[in-house]
Amino acid sequence: MNDTILIVEDEPKIARLIADYLSKSGYASDHIDHGNTVMEWLEEQTPLLILLDLMLPGTDGLTLCRQIRERYPSLPVIMLTARVEEVDRLLGLELGADDYICKPFSPREVVARVKAVLRRTHGSVLGESPAEGDRLVLDEDGWRALAGGQDLGLTAVEFQLLKVMMQSPGRIFSRDQLMDHMYRDHRIVSERTVDSHVKKLRRKIADIWPERDIIRSVYGVGYKYQPEE
Ligand code: CA
Repeated sequence: MNDTILIVEDEPKIARLIADYLSKSGYASDHIDHGNTVMEWLEEQTPLLILLDLMLPGTDGLTLCRQIRERYPSLPVIMLTARVEEVDRLLGLELGADDYICKPFSPREVVARVKAVLRRTHGSVLGESPAEGDRLVLDEDGWRALAGGQDLGLTAVEFQLLKVMMQSPGRIFSRDQLMDHMYRDHRIVSERTVDSHVKKLRRKIADIWPERDIIRSVYGVGYKYQPEE
């Protein structure tokens, strides 16, 4: 295992932009612009994570993702896609990508996703200290969330909602997806229940940070966690 992030992307501009941002965050990267050379490269090297474009010359991203999953099950893969309709397939059992990013994206979002996936798969992230005063920190053992060191006083359901969204910054979750995470026993709850829990969660965050809007509502779709901007 080395500390390189492999970028598989046939558009040189996008690849360069991502590489620049990753490098600013302390990650080295390598770039491949053709689908046919990826598996060969992986035989020689083991990256920390792969950013994999869906539409590639040669072997396409879906096929590659499947092959990577078979050969290297613990290697994190984030798919880059302009096709929103593919998203369920990408994350489903069929392909098992760890996350996806929809084009067009901001390079900052890519870095945030990379960190979130690495945190999930490796348990820690480069250059992050959870003690920073202006950050939202989850204390998973205590089921608490701290905003700038202050306990938000969340209920178990609110904590669960926040945790799920924080694991994928910038990703939009539908109410359905959030419900699945809130109630493991698949109890039937209405979408309004989700809205009311999110509303309470946002109010608790706003009590401490009135000027920040980190849980965003996306009209007609759902909610997302957006830590910056
Ligand atoms: Ca492409």
